Amino acid sequence: MPRIDTDTLRRLPKAVLHDHLDGGLRPATVVELAEAVGHTLPTTDPDELAAWYVEAADSGDLVRYIATFEHTLAVMQTREGLLRTAEEYVLDLAADGVVYGEVRYAPELMLNGGLTLPEVVEAVQQGLAAGMAKAAAAGTPVRVGTLLCGMRMFDRTRETADLAVAFRDAGVVGFDIAGAEDGFPPADHLDAFEHLRRENVPFTIHAGEAHGLPSIHQALQVCGAQRIGHGVRITDDIVDGKLGRLAGWVRDRRVALEMCPTSNLQTGAAASVAEHPITALKDLGFRVTLNTDNRLVSGTTMTREMALLVEEAGWGVEDLRTVTVNALKSAFVPFDERRALIEDVVLPGYAAAL
Ligand SMILES: [Zn+2]
Repeated sequence: MPRIDTDTLRRLPKAVLHDHLDGGLRPATVVELAEAVGHTLPTTDPDELAAWYVEAADSGDLVRYIATFEHTLAVMQTREGLLRTAEEYVLDLAADGVVYGEVRYAPELMLNGGLTLPEVVEAVQQGLAAGMAKAAAAGTPVRVGTLLCGMRMFDRTRETADLAVAFRDAGVVGFDIAGAEDGFPPADHLDAFEHLRRENVPFTIHAGEAHGLPSIHQALQVCGAQRIGHGVRITDDIVDGKLGRLAGWVRDRRVALEMCPTSNLQTGAAASVAEHPITALKDLGFRVTLNTDNRLVSGTTMTREMALLVEEAGWGVEDLRTVTVNALKSAFVPFDERRALIEDVVLPGYAAAL
């Protein structure tokens, strides 16, 4: 199989469904904003800070991985911080060849500077809109939709679900729960999920990353999630290529798995890119999608994730096209927009590379 060079990979149209706003800041921006708000960082050198993140995230522990967010969240408590980080977020996706992205974050973690929940969402949407306008003007248009996250270890998920409903016509396209999975099952937040279902707002749930099949089962069959964040542990229900009932449901109902190879290696949910379940699940016909999760914290981009799969798991351009089309099929924006992106942007982009 021919190797694909990085420039070609960068140009390929990409779609990312699982990427945290507070995990994807530019290191130099964290340094500048931290100085402005008087927050002390492990280092004020942007390159050293980038390395510090990856080192902390490489610990193989989801709880420690999540703890690195303290420093990005510290600079996202003001309107200025949110406007800037949201705008840069979009520009960084555009530079990575992303044509469709869903950004997610937890508004409840951005209230320390006195902003209200709606003010946080308004600021982020304004920053994203500014980024989309600049990216389009530069000839690299990218459509970004927002998922609001409730934190599973706290009790504001219903409030955040209300916020998602309130902002559904202002750029918010769905909902998620995030935070440490162990000990905080999704059904604890049934009130939020039932409300979203009544209001016809789609949602995904982080499940099957640190915790196994019961978490995925509950997210789908009790809470009603349309997609699963990570879901790597669905492989526990597959023996010698034979699917159990839950794995069969996930594949046959076309439930998208938002897989994040580098992040999964860092939290110990997978041993290597070569052995990451994304390849086996793709070959078994699951609707797998490729994602970055946290670009700063994991030191990655969509281009890098693609390069890793090409180099270490034997992926070709067709495989990259498959996961990109999969992502758009399961995106939370309206069908006509998704179809237009697939037919007018993604398929021609991959045809040119083949
Ligand atoms: Zn995540």
